[in-house]
Parts: sequence; structure tokens; C-alpha cells
Amino acid sequence: MHIETSPTINSLLKKISTYDQAADLDIIRLTYDFAKQAHEGQFRKSGEPYIIHPLAAAHILADMRIDPVIIMATLLHDVPEDTSVTLDDIAKNFGDEIASLVSGITKLGKLKYRGVERYLENLRKMFVAMAEDIRVMIIKFADRIHNLSTLSSLPPQKAYRIALESLEIYAPIAGRLGMDQMKSMLEDLSFAYVFPKEYQRTIALHKEKIAGKEQYFHEIQDIATKDIESAGIPLISLSGRNKKLYSFYQKLIRKNNEVNKVYDLIAIRAIVPTVADCYATLGVLHKLWKPLSGRFKDYISQPKPNGYQSLHTTVFAKDNQIVEFQIRTEDMEEEASFGVAAHWHYDEHGAKAPKREVQWAKELAEIQKEMLHKLSDLEEIKVNFLQTRIFVFTPAGDVIDLPENASPVDFAYHIHTDIGNKCSGAIVNEKMVRLDTSLKNGDVVEILTDKNRKTPNEDWLKFVKTHSAKTHIRNHQKKTKMAAWLKAVLPKK
Ligand code: MN
Repeated sequence: MHIETSPTINSLLKKISTYDQAADLDIIRLTYDFAKQAHEGQFRKSGEPYIIHPLAAAHILADMRIDPVIIMATLLHDVPEDTSVTLDDIAKNFGDEIASLVSGITKLGKLKYRGVERYLENLRKMFVAMAEDIRVMIIKFADRIHNLSTLSSLPPQKAYRIALESLEIYAPIAGRLGMDQMKSMLEDLSFAYVFPKEYQRTIALHKEKIAGKEQYFHEIQDIATKDIESAGIPLISLSGRNKKLYSFYQKLIRKNNEVNKVYDLIAIRAIVPTVADCYATLGVLHKLWKPLSGRFKDYISQPKPNGYQSLHTTVFAKDNQIVEFQIRTEDMEEEASFGVAAHWHYDEHGAKAPKREVQWAKELAEIQKEMLHKLSDLEEIKVNFLQTRIFVFTPAGDVIDLPENASPVDFAYHIHTDIGNKCSGAIVNEKMVRLDTSLKNGDVVEILTDKNRKTPNEDWLKFVKTHSAKTHIRNHQKKTKMAAWLKAVLPKK
């Protein structure tokens, strides 16, 4: 996976046709033409025509062999936000499924950042999207990866903010979803902007440590290949992998900067057909070289929470040098690289990968706990808030969290008491709705007020959910009764 600097629609179609022979290339080209026309006359900060951005993001996903429907939505992802073409136009031309994916991305963009609230808002933004459709997240990651690759055209402050957010929010979520390739790209592209000095130092150290090792690793690979094959194991591939830069940096921190304790700077990965072959390969390697005690990890029988499976072992190889091996099947390799994205991609033979059970509730709850741990100073947030809260947007892009089934009236009181009291109607996602409508995650809500109105409607008590709306409405009820009573009992002038 890499970032195309001058992507073209032809190279995209070519890529897609290598994994999905049934893909309708004409409609993908049409989608591209549509997006290109919509963005006509717009340019990126780098000076390139705008269309280069969605096209490059689409290439990133094609490298992951992602379903063409997601790629089409990626080509269109900035259209409703930045051009005069609307979501309705997209729905008319490309159908509801693609329009809904694009709408998910558009909603993510509606949010504006405010100082220290940034982390929390990002977290919510992600949840709103994930609750709706994980495919939106996949597009968002590709979008962000391409934006990171062009950060140098932005003012330093803005570049820093985007990189920091990618490193602290996007990358961990990609990791939790098992999308390792995307996680590494998000990290390595952000690293230089967030920690420039450490980046330079790490890159130098990485080069220095790897330099001159090629010959040695070739020898190790040859020896291992020979023994694995002569044991009758049908080895699919065996190759060396350099540890990704940011991940190396993180490990150095954990090992108190003792670079000699980082054993997996280069790891050798063996891919074999079956789980039984994995354990057989492990046996061969342990017979060949003495394993380092305490370094063997069986993630096949005990997968990581994000689904990662593999055997890891570290051995004293030739000349007593320490080498890490990772052993896994092709399916495990796919899952390790693409994570949940593998559920929307095509396998080697051009067939769509079978959809595996995606345990959303579990995934979300775990990410949530992790993130909330970091945000522990924001005490008002309960760990289970996702189950009981929804997140809706103001037209200006602020996130408002409300209890499930909250109404536009709850929303209005959340904004301001006066807006609640004078509330006369509501527009949700650009449509007029009744005031007792249940709001849903991701809705954009606008409140209409009647400035002549003085008191809230008592009937609202039948459907409002928030404490604050109830209290305000009741207070008015009391005041009105009191006024009526006073009027009745006070002597007339
Ligand atoms: Mn974009």
C-alpha cells in the first residue's frame, strides 16, 4: 500500500479489475467524471486540481482490494460538502447506498473543533460514524491518509493539529479495528509533524540498525526455507519485514531507549496454508535455533482483542543473533493487514470475502473504555454512554449529546432555555418534523422559534426526555398557575 502522487482514473480501474472481474468499470468511470466535474475549478492547497484527492484516496482502498461501491463513495466523498452538487443528486445518479456512505462522511465533516474539547468531539464523531456504518470509517481513514501525505502545503499549526489528531485518535481506532496497514500509515505520516526531533533521531537509528543486515537476513531466510520445505510443509512465502518507524519509536520508549532490546526491528514472516502448518513450522524453527525464553506468543489459540492471529517466536539464529519470526496463514495475514476492512474486500480469486461476524457492540465498548480512560478528567461521561446517549449536530457543526429518543424540544433546551421556551418547529436533516419526533444519531437539527411565544407547551412534558427540558417546562407551568391565581385573588385596581 502506498500513496499515488499522480493517480489517474485508468490506473484505478486497472487496479480494481485485478481483484474484481465483475466490477462495472463504466459506472466507476462515470462516478469519477461526475466528481471531477463537480470539483471543476477547485484546487488543493498544494495547487493540484481537487479531484486528485478523492482519486488518491480511492487508490489507497483499491490497494486493499476494497469493494467498488466503497471506492465509488470515496470518489464522491467531498462533493456535497464542497460543491453545488447535493446528496440528492448523488442518490439520483448512483443510488441510496452510495449516497448514504457519502452522507456519513459529510456528517463527519460538519463537526468543528474547539480547544481541549477536541479529543472528546473526535471520539463522538467517530462513534456517530461507526454506529452508522463501518464503511464510512474505512473511507475516512483513506481520506485522512491522503490528507496527511500533503500536510506540507498547510500552515504549520494546522498541519500539527491534523497530525496530532491522526496519531492520537485515528490510528488507535484503526488499530483496534485490526486495520494494521492503515494504522501504520496514519502513524508514520503524522510522526514527523508531531515529534519532528524524535522522528529525525528514530529514522537515523532505524537506518543505522538495519544497514548491512540484508545479507544476513537473506541467509537466515534461505536456511529456514530449506528446513521448512524439507519437513514437508508447503510454505507459501517467507520474507523479512522492517518494523514501521513510529512503532519502532514507541518500542524504544518502552525499552528505555535500549535499541538492542528491540528484537523485531526486522521480523521474518512465514505464510503457510493451515493452522497445523503454523505449529509445524514453529517446531522446525525451534529445532533449528534455540528460542529465547518467554518470547513465544500464541495468538492463534488466543487472538488479540482486535482479531489478530499469528505465532510469534524469537530465536538465537546463526552467529547467535536474535531474530523474530511470525508464522500465520493467508487468512490471518489478510485479517492482520486489513482488519474489519477485510469484510469488504475481495480475496485472491476475485470472490468477495465471506462476511464474518462483526461484533460491533463489543468493539465499540472496548474502544470507548480505552479512550475514556484517557479522558478520565471529564467525569460526567459514563462508560456506557453510547448505549444510552445519542449525538446530534447543530447546523454550525457542534455536537450535542442527548438521551436516546430525545426530541427536538430537548435539543432546543440544551442549546438555550429561551430557545426551548420559544420553540415552534424543527428541521431535521433539512426536513420539517414534528416536535415529538425521536432524534437519531447523526441528525442535524435546527430549531425554529416564535419570538412572540412566551411559554412552553405543557403537552411537551409527554415526550421530553431531559431533566432540563422537564424542569423548564414545569417551572413555566407553575409560573402560569401562580399568575392566574394571583390575578384571581389580588384585588382589582
Ligand atoms: Mn476528503
